[in-house]
Amino acid sequence: MTPTLQEDIAAVEDAVLRFVQTEVKPHLEQWEEAGQFPRSLYQRAAELGWLGMGYPEALGGTPTPWALRNAMTIALARAGGSGGLMASLFSHNIGLPPLLRHGSAALQQQVIPDVLAGRKVSALCITEPGGGTDVSALKTTARLEGNEYVVDGEKVFITSGTRADWLTVAVRTDLKNKGPMGISMLMVPGDALGLSRSPLKKMGWLCSDTAHLRFDGVRVPASNLVGEEGSGFKIILTNFNGERLAMSAMALGFAECCYDEALAWARQRKTFGTALVDHQVIRHKLMDMKMRIESTRAWLDAVTACADAEDKFAKGAEFPAGPPQGELAPSGGSDPRSGGAWGPSTVAQVCLLKNHATQTMQFCADQGVQILGGMGFMRGTACERIYREVKVMMIGGGAEEIMKELASRQLGL
Ligand SMILES: Cc1cc2nc3c(=O)[nH]c(=O)nc-3n(C[C@H](O)[C@H](O)[C@H](O)COP(=O)(O)OP(=O)(O)OC[C@H]3O[C@@H](n4cnc5c(N)ncnc54)[C@H](O)[C@@H]3O)c2cc1C
Repeated sequence: MTPTLQEDIAAVEDAVLRFVQTEVKPHLEQWEEAGQFPRSLYQRAAELGWLGMGYPEALGGTPTPWALRNAMTIALARAGGSGGLMASLFSHNIGLPPLLRHGSAALQQQVIPDVLAGRKVSALCITEPGGGTDVSALKTTARLEGNEYVVDGEKVFITSGTRADWLTVAVRTDLKNKGPMGISMLMVPGDALGLSRSPLKKMGWLCSDTAHLRFDGVRVPASNLVGEEGSGFKIILTNFNGERLAMSAMALGFAECCYDEALAWARQRKTFGTALVDHQVIRHKLMDMKMRIESTRAWLDAVTACADAEDKFAKGAEFPAGPPQGELAPSGGSDPRSGGAWGPSTVAQVCLLKNHATQTMQFCADQGVQILGGMGFMRGTACERIYREVKVMMIGGGAEEIMKELASRQLGL
C-alpha cells in the first residue's frame, strides 16, 4: 500500500468517525424505530465524497481503489452506522453498476450523476416472490410494443424499494425462452404509472427501506434497456462480486463494533468485586472474537489487493463467455464500476470470504451479547442490533450455500 493510499484511508476513517458520532448516533434509534432515515442523508454522503467512490469523474464520481472503499465501509460499520443505514444509503452500488458497464452514454448521463450527487436514489430489483437464488427462473416480463417495453410482474425484498427514483430491473424479454438467455435489464423510473410499492417489516436493517414492488403494465422507453436483449443474466452475475466484497468489509466492521462494545463493557462492569475483563472466561471470549476478526481482516486485505490488481490489469476486458447456469455460472465475474474482469480464483476467494466474514460477524455478535448480559438484549446496544442484522448478511448477495457451491465450481471441483 502506498503512503498516499494510507493517508487517504486515515482521512476517510477520521471523517467517518466524526460523521457517525455527530450525524448518525444521536438519531439512529429514532430512525430504526421509524423504519427510515432522512433523505437528506444521501446528499450529505455525496458531499463527503462517499457515494461517488469508484465511479468515473465524467459521471460525477471519483475513481477509488477497493482498498479505500472497503476502509470507508469498515469504518462506518465499526463506528456505529447500522446495517439498514448502510444498505439503503449505498443501494446505488448494486443498482448502478449494470448501467455503468452496459448502458448507453445517454442513459448513464440521465441517471448516474443525480444519484452520485444524492439527489436521486437507485435500487436493484432481481428477487421475486418465487425465488431469489435461482435468478434464471425469474418471471417478470417486459414485452416490446412499438418503442416501449411493457413490464408486468413482482419483485420482493428490494432495498430502497419504496423511495428509489431509478429501479434497475431484471425482466424476461424473450417470453419463449424460460432460461437465463431470455433475461434483460431495464431502467424503470420510480414514478412510472402502474408501479406500486409496499414496505416490508423485518428482523433487522430496520431503517432500511425494503419493499415489495408490483409492475402492472408499466411502460418505459425501449432506450431504457441496459445492454442487449438477452444479456441480463450475465450482467447480473458480474454485479455480484463487488457486492460480496463490500459485504465482507461490512461484516468485518460489525464484528469489530461488537468487540469494541464488549471490551468497553467488560472493563467497566463489575461482578464479584472485580471487572468482568478480569475473569479469565470473559478475556478468552474476547480473544476468540479477536482471533476471528484478525483472520477476516488479513483475508479481506489479501482479496482486496487481488481485486485492485485485477481491475487495473484487466481494465476494459470483456466478461468471460461461458454457458451460464443459475447463480452457479462457471466463469469469473468482474467489478463493473472499473470494468475489470476478476479471475476464477478471486471470485472463489470473494465467495468464501463472504461466508467467513459473516460467520465472524455472527460469532462476535453472539459473544458480544453474552458479555453484555441482560444489557445485550436491550435495544440501544450495538451488539443487540448486530445480532439481529447478521442473518441477512448470510443470505443476501448470495446465500452461504450458494457461495460454497460457486467457489467449488470456480476452483474446478
Ligand atoms: C433485507 C433484504 C434486502 C434485500 N435486498 C435486495 C435487493 O435490493 N435486491 C434484490 O434483488 N434482492 C434483495 N434481497 C433478496 C436476497 O438477495 C435474497 O433473499 C437471496 O438471494 C435469497 O433468495 P430467496 O430469499 O428467494 O431464497 P431462496 O432462493 O428461496 O433460497 C432459500 C434457501 O435455500 C438455499 N438454496 C437455494 N438453492 C439451493 C441449492 N441449489 N442448494 C443448496 N441450497 C440452496 C438458499 O441458500 C437459501 O438459504 C434482499 C433480501 C433481504 C432479506
